[in-house]
Amino acid sequence: MTNDAILAKYGELGRDIREILITEDQIRQKVLELGERISQDYADKNPVLVGVLKGVLFLMADLLRVITIPSEVDFLAVASYSAEARQRGMVRLIKDLEIPIDGRHVLFVEDVIDTGLTLGYLLRSLRDRNPASLEVCVLFNKPAHRLIDIPLKYKGFDLPDRFVVGYGLDYNEKYRNLPFIGVLKPDVLKGKT
Ligand code: 5GP
Repeated sequence: MTNDAILAKYGELGRDIREILITEDQIRQKVLELGERISQDYADKNPVLVGVLKGVLFLMADLLRVITIPSEVDFLAVASYSAEARQRGMVRLIKDLEIPIDGRHVLFVEDVIDTGLTLGYLLRSLRDRNPASLEVCVLFNKPAHRLIDIPLKYKGFDLPDRFVVGYGLDYNEKYRNLPFIGVLKPDVLKGKT
């Protein structure tokens, strides 16, 4: 199917998309590769995969399906404080993990990293709980605005400095269900780049 045909299938949502940056097939292939590497690296380690709701929804589900070793999954949910606190990377945990992670091999699964502030804060918080190891798997990396250095053991795609939606990522809670990564038209995306 052409990209135009795919957008037409999504009607109102598709009409808001200016461009498909990464197709559903490209995502599927990349997630499969990541899952294979993770399965090899974590064989016999029974890792705990940790994600932040809700953007990680698709990635976590798809990744779990291609991981071939025993593993466990858990989620955090966060709420942002003021814009100023957010700039310092401070987030408020509104749902903590249910699985104790001390002594466990933890893989933090993240859909998108931009400045890295949110992830940096959450990683510090998890490190305090003494996991046996703590690594990051990110599908969409936006290096342009990175403020802190975070080692990314597993990385999917480098994205340009654009605000993207789809594959779990939203704009005002909309567009999460699109199976590809797209850029919104400027008139839809007021105030975002
Ligand atoms: P940070 O700047 O702290 O790395 O990213 C914080 C959060 O902003 C991400 O976890 C994600 O929820 C959101 N975010 C960053 N870039 C994008 C984007 O291009 N699209 C969407 N929908 N959310 C994004």
